[in-house]
Amino acid sequence: MDEFNYQEAIAKIKARFPEGTVKKREDTGRAYIPNQVYNDRVELATQSQWTLEYSEVEINVPQRYVKVVARVTIGPHTRDGIGFHELNVDGSGNVKKLSTAVDQAKAEAFREALDTWQIGWQDLAPYYQLEKDWGSNPALQHLLHSSPPEESERFSQASEVIDRQCIYTNCGAQLTRDEWALLGTIPKLDRTRMTYCFEHIPNHYKKKIPSAELETFLKKTNDR
Ligand SMILES: [Zn+2]
Repeated sequence: MDEFNYQEAIAKIKARFPEGTVKKREDTGRAYIPNQVYNDRVELATQSQWTLEYSEVEINVPQRYVKVVARVTIGPHTRDGIGFHELNVDGSGNVKKLSTAVDQAKAEAFREALDTWQIGWQDLAPYYQLEKDWGSNPALQHLLHSSPPEESERFSQASEVIDRQCIYTNCGAQLTRDEWALLGTIPKLDRTRMTYCFEHIPNHYKKKIPSAELETFLKKTNDR
């Protein structure tokens, strides 16, 4: 394996995403980038040489919140992010949808940790240009004039196949980055252990792939 180059990995992490990556929240209209995209970017940029652990999960029923601390390590550097989510409690004091609340808090904590490496800032800054928003700060104007996304496009083509192999008996095929991303869309599947090429994804998991993601995947694959 090549020697890990921290500066290079971080440059790749901060690089712009392809057009269309930024989404708008349905409820608030705020711009965001999906966590799967961040996860995929860090995977590729570090060639899987990163770790994520949730070092603290606090479920506070009296105060009705979940607090999660995500700890991300890239090379020699470890950063923490904190995520909160409100707990819903029904009339008899039972917590509703606990696992959803924990997942949401984890997602926020993960984003917060990665945010310290400025992931997605160049892409999000144009959407936060009102006076009250962080992107309009004069000290951050350089984000708006950064290099166009050719770099990251070349980068994604170069990494068409990634350093992950299908675990299905006797398969061992190297996954494409699209297959890896697709695995990331399956709820409750830990793709670092359940690593399958598309052909070998067990059917009960395949059925859980969001149809839009599946369509995009199949279209991309057929275009090749
Ligand atoms: Zn396979």
